[in-house]
Amino acid sequence: MSKAYFISGANRGIGFSFMKSLSADATNTIVASARNVETATKLKEWANAHSNVKIVQLDVASAESVEAAAKKTLELVPEGLDVLISNAGIAKASGTILELSDDSYLEHYVVNTLGPIRLVKAFKSLLDNKSSKEVLAITSIVGSVGMVLPFSTSGYGLSKAGLNYAFRQLQQELTSEGYSFAIVHPGLVGSDMGNEFVGSLDSETREQFLSTLPLLTPDESVSAITKNVLAELKAKSSRKFLSYDGS
Ligand code: NDP
Repeated sequence: MSKAYFISGANRGIGFSFMKSLSADATNTIVASARNVETATKLKEWANAHSNVKIVQLDVASAESVEAAAKKTLELVPEGLDVLISNAGIAKASGTILELSDDSYLEHYVVNTLGPIRLVKAFKSLLDNKSSKEVLAITSIVGSVGMVLPFSTSGYGLSKAGLNYAFRQLQQELTSEGYSFAIVHPGLVGSDMGNEFVGSLDSETREQFLSTLPLLTPDESVSAITKNVLAELKAKSSRKFLSYDGS
């Protein structure tokens, strides 16, 4: 069934793979966002070759930019959106909880927690037009309070825990309007973010970590999320924290 999707952070990594994979079905419409459209060369090349891909500028750190992106998306898809994919995120160098600066906590919070909330707020009127009303956020296992990891991810982990809380609440608050929300951990993915993270670990931790978690390509992660979560988002939607394999 043809659907209209919006993807944040679609110029590289996991977001770019979502854009490629969803646009392969020519009946779908993909509104793909980039923080800097001018330098989003790969995305622009893809959109030039695929008329079902439209590009919109979006910086989730700016409330004005999110509002402007929703307005532009309405012009591009006046019939509305079926699925909102909140994928954009940052993970900057970390320290222990006590070491990390206030600025670093706030920067992660604004992009990774407030950003997805701003997206839902601004794009809700577009989703309201359709019966699908599906919202998927890419979170991280490090935002799980129950997970003990052999390294610190303070600013990032805290912001993803906040995202998990926000989406659990959204699920509770908007189910009666027909909405379905899912938060999914994409696995350990060899995007710029994933490669930088793996490269920052000392060799012993890296070996230990990679022996328990496979390093997926962005395309492998997206293919698993699409099959195990996105394709059955209504059924999978709950207040649970999902992994790319559907568990
Ligand atoms: P990348 O660093 O490769 O890509 C991040 C994307 O987010 C880029 O398109 C980037 O745009 C965009 N972005 C960053 N800040 C903003 C902003 N303020 N406004 C709009 N867009 C922004 O990372 P991944 O593809 O790996 O990450 C995608 C998601 O997956 C993130 O939410 C991440 O936390 C999550 N994740 C990733 C894991 C991994 O192993 N890679 C593991 C667990 C979760 P720009 O090019 O302009 O910087």
